[in-house]
Amino acid sequence: MVASADAKRHAARIVRRLKAAYPEVRCALNFNSPLELLIATILSAQCTDTRVNIVVKDLFRKYPDAGAYATAQRAQLERAIHSTGFFRNKAKNITGCCQKLVAEHGGHVPRDIDTLTKLPGIGRKTANVVLGTAFGISSGVVVDTHVARISKRLGMTRHTDPVKIERDLIDQLPKRQWIDFAHRMITHGRRVCAARKPKCDDCSLSDVCPRIGVATHPTKPRRRTKKPSTAR
Ligand code: SF4
Repeated sequence: MVASADAKRHAARIVRRLKAAYPEVRCALNFNSPLELLIATILSAQCTDTRVNIVVKDLFRKYPDAGAYATAQRAQLERAIHSTGFFRNKAKNITGCCQKLVAEHGGHVPRDIDTLTKLPGIGRKTANVVLGTAFGISSGVVVDTHVARISKRLGMTRHTDPVKIERDLIDQLPKRQWIDFAHRMITHGRRVCAARKPKCDDCSLSDVCPRIGVATHPTKPRRRTKKPSTAR
């Protein structure tokens, strides 16, 4: 579906506001190479970036390249990443992914989305993070939980499926905006447009946001007042 002129104008306004609100943006994950970012992004599923940054300090020292992960003892790797949650699945994906990197790509992270998404456990979100942030390649728009939620509230998509949301955003945004737009939306989600209590009154997008799905008057649970006791 091609985005309407109105949808593109709406998107352009949002881009301008986000740029003004967050002029400098960067990925919150610490890394020194595309491989480190790939591993950190795998670990960041269902985990905070702060926790991942703590875990990777030792992890990156212990496993300096794809070969080290490819031949890692599964139990040791699981222990090293345990606190990021879902550690069994993450360890399996890291090992499988790095085995393929070693076998088919000389231990290097490929620079195109089709090859990246063929690696075990690597979906479009992880591939877009790595390509955009480590290589500066606009392969698509990163759709994480923040981008998905805020795009819907802003009326940029009606979908819940990340692949469909990404298609809507790609349609509405110029390619040169794809990478920074996602970084800014993620920052906005963390600071202002939170899942449970968005701070609409303090939001730089408030006059352009239709607030789709946002309760205008959140109902607080009423406290039951205790009847005064009449017993003497
Ligand atoms: S106005 Fe509210 S719902 Fe819309 S982007 Fe801002 S915080 Fe989120």
